Amino acid sequence: MLIVPEALIADLVSPQDAFDAIEGCFAAMSNGDAYNFPVVREALGEGRQYGFKSGLDRAGAQLGVKAGGYFPGNADKGMINHQSSVFLFDPETGRPTAMVGGNLLTALRTAAASAISIARLARREARVLGMVGAGHQATFQMRAAARVRQFDRVIAWNLHPDMLPKLGAVAAELGLPFEAVPLERMVEADVIITITSSPAASLMAAHVGPGTHLACMGTDTKGKQEVEAALLARATVFTDEVAQSISIGEAQHAIAAGLLQAAAITPLGDVVTGRHPGRQSAEEITLFDGTGVGLQDLAVAAMALRRAQERGVGVKVAV
Ligand code: NAD
Repeated sequence: MLIVPEALIADLVSPQDAFDAIEGCFAAMSNGDAYNFPVVREALGEGRQYGFKSGLDRAGAQLGVKAGGYFPGNADKGMINHQSSVFLFDPETGRPTAMVGGNLLTALRTAAASAISIARLARREARVLGMVGAGHQATFQMRAAARVRQFDRVIAWNLHPDMLPKLGAVAAELGLPFEAVPLERMVEADVIITITSSPAASLMAAHVGPGTHLACMGTDTKGKQEVEAALLARATVFTDEVAQSISIGEAQHAIAAGLLQAAAITPLGDVVTGRHPGRQSAEEITLFDGTGVGLQDLAVAAMALRRAQERGVGVKVAV
């Protein structure tokens, strides 16, 4: 097997590569060629979470698992809070083929999913990007969003305002004016990305105007929540995988409150493959519940492996 260390990933997989790989992954799910295995996610105490996301893509010949989680004390130790590794196996024989560093890949594949939702569902003329959250993933999210729409400014809110200047610096790099705002002003945004580890809703239905597209990316565990459940009742809801959306995603709360039915949630892959038309009016609120599926991790890890093999980099080990 080949070990592809974290330090090599930035040279092997670009944001555009991730976008293409994740669109392919969502299409394979919509076509019934690929499915995710049930997620294992355990609380380790002190806010630490650890788990496994895995799946099989028959069309792409990918089988594997991402092991990792969220360790909120890491920032104080000079590490990012998300830590993960992806293990790939030959689907015919079960032999391990690769161990791939998963930290940057997670940020790239999560930002790609959000950007695909924006590319497919936001109004073409969207100009104001709203950011709720300013942690590690937020900068990747903003960069990926800026690749798919011509934004002319960014407004942002974060529970911890001291984290906002880092996001502002990335906006400056992208040439976008940046303003920290109270949540009430999110109503000015055409696209809103939420990417926090919040345990309760921050963004309320009243903070969102007609025609907005939301990419809700932070809720990936039971008990987390970023937006008011009533917002999902008002919106047309899309997701990466319905089973995850209703159990560990943002939709878990609207489902529990009886405000949303699972049957009303559409896989984003159905929009990619043309089975669903996507946005149907300029006033419609569209909401992507991005929970993060194992197949996304396999898709970008397989791409990193392919590139590493082509370039003769990585560490070969016998297993
Ligand atoms: P981070 O630790 O770098 O940043 C955390 C963010 O959440 C910051 O903006 C912080 O201010 C905010 N926050 C913390 N506690 C909060 C609270 N009580 N209420 C409101 N906001 C709060 O984390 P990150 O790596 O940027 O990840 C952000 C979230 O995205 C996490 O919940 C993580 O699990 C999730 N995530 C989801 C996916 C996916 O595929 N959907 C992938 C990676 C990460």
